[in-house]
Amino acid sequence: MKAVDRHLADILGAVRPLAPMEVDIENALGTVLAEDVASPMPLPPFDNSAMDGYAVRAEDVAAAPVTLPVIEDVAAGDGGVYAVGPGLVARIMTGAPVPAGADAVVPVEWTDGGTARVTINMPAPFGNAIRRAGEDVEAGDLVLRAGTRIGPAQVGILAGVGRRQVIVRPRPRVVVLSTGAELAEPGTPLGPGQIWESNSFMLAAAVRQAGGDGFRAGVVTDDPREFLEALDNQLLRADAVITSGGVSMGAYEPVKEALAPLGKVAFERVAMQPGMPQGFGLVGQDAVPIFTLPGNPVSSFVSFVLFVKPALLAMQGLPAGPPPTVRAVTSAPLRSPEGKRSFLRAVLSGGVVAPVHGQGSHQLAALASANALIVLPEDVTQLPQGAEVEVIPL
Ligand code: AMP
Ligand code: MG
Repeated sequence: MKAVDRHLADILGAVRPLAPMEVDIENALGTVLAEDVASPMPLPPFDNSAMDGYAVRAEDVAAAPVTLPVIEDVAAGDGGVYAVGPGLVARIMTGAPVPAGADAVVPVEWTDGGTARVTINMPAPFGNAIRRAGEDVEAGDLVLRAGTRIGPAQVGILAGVGRRQVIVRPRPRVVVLSTGAELAEPGTPLGPGQIWESNSFMLAAAVRQAGGDGFRAGVVTDDPREFLEALDNQLLRADAVITSGGVSMGAYEPVKEALAPLGKVAFERVAMQPGMPQGFGLVGQDAVPIFTLPGNPVSSFVSFVLFVKPALLAMQGLPAGPPPTVRAVTSAPLRSPEGKRSFLRAVLSGGVVAPVHGQGSHQLAALASANALIVLPEDVTQLPQGAEVEVIPL
């Protein structure tokens, strides 16, 4: 059997970061920046008022209360050239440029709000309520580095430095194809021998959470020709394909039967539980990575966490490797088959990890109640309660 680490290494050795492309910042959410972004200007670009109030010379209001003439109004966006002479003030709004000569802003709350003359009740120190040019960013400063995942605040600063287009690695488009003659669409009644199809929904959601765009490409039955046709139709619009089911040792294994003869996908037994039957390869003209995951829902989920997610990160140009782990103490004794790495579904809380009831690879409800996987190494067959273990938080 192939080692888990070897299988991941083979996958990461085969996938490539997607080519960078230019996108409008409105479409950049969730992509990964492929260029360093600097600000062409200082931010703020000019000294401006942080409050609605009066631009003054601090020394003129040091003896407040004082009453002074208001010479003009300066609103945000006002491009006029203003100056405040000794003994004079200008009414000023938040974001408006501070007139020459003024060196403090008195908030309107400290005044009587007058428009021709204003009584200022409290002195304002030098620089009060003035946002200085460049106090956020100096001209030429890097505001975002290549390799940053673009979230809402990153979209904000891109716009804030005047960018409309940005070069990113796109979200990988991942098609999820389920196989199984027994699978019925959720929302439709079950016939005899049928179960509701869950893997494609779960895997497409997992893709989205990993930064890709996951699409369900529906379900095919156990006919290898039907599978190949569906795959062919999907390859055009996919950066990667995930299949579930049809790769084990039985009869009616359409994924294996269709792909094994083409020699592009290696079907292997990986020393893990759950999820032993795995396949990976590059298919089609564009050598699209394909992950053929086992059909049992928990197996396909664990396979995604161990192999597909790291590959999706690599395709986005992000650091990729085995899922990060933490250490915790098990609240119950644990068992694991000799020679396989086990991933037990568990609840992790405050440094203690409790395996959930129902460790079968079909027990999706148990998976849904878990928030972590306990990792038991290949050479461990049992551990007592209280032992320290490695845990993958989900
Ligand atoms: P297979 O890998 O095709 O042999 O399937 C293994 C087990 O997983 C069988 O019990 C299937 O019914 C179940 N299974 C396969 N695909 C799915 C799916 N998409 N959703 C839910 N269960 C599935
Ligand atoms: Mg099947």
